[in-house]
Amino acid sequence: VERVTVDCPICGATSDETFRELDGYRVARCKSCGFLFVNPRPTPEGLSELYRDRETNKFFSEGYEPPELEAPVLAKVFDTIQRYVRSGAMLEIGCGRGDLLALAGSRGFQPTGVDFFDGKPPATPGVRFFDGPLAAAKFPNASFDVVVIRNVLEHLFDPRQEVAEAFRLLKPGGALYAKVPNAMAGEGPFYRRFVAPRYPFAPPYHLSHFSPESMRRLLTNAGFQFVRWSVEQPTIVRSARKNLVRQAAYRVLNLLNTLSGGRFPQITIACIVKKP
Ligand SMILES: [Zn+2]
Repeated sequence: VERVTVDCPICGATSDETFRELDGYRVARCKSCGFLFVNPRPTPEGLSELYRDRETNKFFSEGYEPPELEAPVLAKVFDTIQRYVRSGAMLEIGCGRGDLLALAGSRGFQPTGVDFFDGKPPATPGVRFFDGPLAAAKFPNASFDVVVIRNVLEHLFDPRQEVAEAFRLLKPGGALYAKVPNAMAGEGPFYRRFVAPRYPFAPPYHLSHFSPESMRRLLTNAGFQFVRWSVEQPTIVRSARKNLVRQAAYRVLNLLNTLSGGRFPQITIACIVKKP
């Protein structure tokens, strides 16, 4: 697979150093802002191929996280969104099956979803789908009241471009809800030992490794006004015992985060920002 070298996806600096080698890829650290990103990396075309291929794309939504297990998490995400935007047109970038969009529809929103569907978009009633990259959809300026992008930015060749497009598509006063894994939690000794030693460094799927600082910078540099951090509950799993452990661990980690004034990292980074 062809690979290209890029500038820092957050600050645009051209100078980086090797942070670590993983699965034949180099994770670089920007010498200017400290951002961690895969460099060199597959081309945008190479990445599109990768995501279109149902055989190798482990993030393909069918069977990834069943709807009934995802529903309680999505309901809470949507409650958070509705505190800032009561109704209107909603766009989800990387919508998968469209579970969150279906929920949005049931609460009176007009939902639109964008993802790679390989020509077979889901048959979710009331939801408009676009098959392909967001830039190709060419939606008009200021056509949405809320944009959601969860577990997507870390996969993209150019997250700045995607955030700029989300900004263009939002109406003034509209909100963006964004979520990414927290590389600072994934790199922490506790997390690596007890939770998932390799997560979230999974090249070439994860190309950008965000910290709360770099995430905030990415969004505010695009013109967004930071509103607040949010916390997402982990997806419910089938095993009752495993579930108890996961949900209890989530509460403990949450409490530690609160007690340490944010110094103890969240596993994921979720936030709400607004277009002024
Ligand atoms: Zn940088």
